[in-house]
This record gives sequence, C-alpha cells and structure tokens, in this order.
Amino acid sequence: MFCKTCGGLLVPKKTEYGSWMSCPQGHLQPELNQERTTITTKNLRQAANIEVASDENILAVYDHVCKKCGHGKAQLIEISCSYSDEDNIYRFKCGKCGSVEQMEGKVK
Ligand SMILES: [Zn+2]
Ligand SMILES: [Zn+2]
Repeated sequence: MFCKTCGGLLVPKKTEYGSWMSCPQGHLQPELNQERTTITTKNLRQAANIEVASDENILAVYDHVCKKCGHGKAQLIEISCSYSDEDNIYRFKCGKCGSVEQMEGKVK
C-alpha cells in the first residue's frame, strides 16, 4: 500500500489505538482511518446488542417451565461429579427470574 499524498510506501505503525499502515512522512491515510472507524462502530453496536439481550438469559434455550414465575425457557446447568461414579447433576436456571430447580430423574 502507498501513501495517498506522497506515494511513498506505507509502514506498519503502532499506536495506543492499535497498529495500522502509515506513511513515514506522517501523512494521514483517510481511507484506512475510515475503515477503522467503521470497525469500532460495529463493535459498539455489538456490545449494545449484548446489553439488551442480557435482560433475558441468552443461555436459557431449554424448554422448562419455571415453578416460580411460569417462564418457559431455562438454562441447563450441568454439575459433573468427577470425583465419584455418580451421575452428573442437572439443574435448570430460569431465564427470567433466575430461580434454580434441580432436575428430577436422570438425563441419559
Ligand atoms: Zn506520505
Ligand atoms: Zn422463573
């Protein structure tokens, strides 16, 4: 890649914001900078989406009706008993109120 201003070869430059190609003469590369701005904006939007989703547990994908609030989706939590021959313990965590219920019976 070459400098848009003087045509010189661009060299990688490290800054506190990250590293990108830059002109040794210090000319700004508007195209490259614009690209970085777009990426930053995308990341911010992604972060916002996660924040919105955290209102409800995104891991709560299993069909389980909560005894407490009646919510139909729960997160499956597996607690492995690695220290014994016992079966793993499964618990449902309600995606809405967070109430945890031990699963009855075995999951096999
Ligand atoms: Zn230049
Ligand atoms: Zn619930």
